[in-house]
Amino acid sequence: MQTKTMCRECGKEKKLAGRGLCPACYHRERRLGIRRALQGTRESGEFLVSVDFEPMACILEEVKKRAGAELRDVPRQILWELGRAFGVQP
Ligand SMILES: [Zn+2]
Repeated sequence: MQTKTMCRECGKEKKLAGRGLCPACYHRERRLGIRRALQGTRESGEFLVSVDFEPMACILEEVKKRAGAELRDVPRQILWELGRAFGVQP
């Protein structure tokens, strides 16, 4: 049985969904993050995306390993891997 813990956002005693947040706060934060990321790209005209690798942390670990081996920084390695997956090279 999972014990209830205090949400770090609203302070209510609930079962936590992730990152120390109750389900309501967790989903609100996710939606806000997605909206900010979309607005950021539209407003600034830059192609920046913030990605939470928490659900698939093993992918980020593999990217870091490859980045170290291929002497790229992690963002460039992510672009490189995506480019290869899509058959596009920068
Ligand atoms: Zn909460």
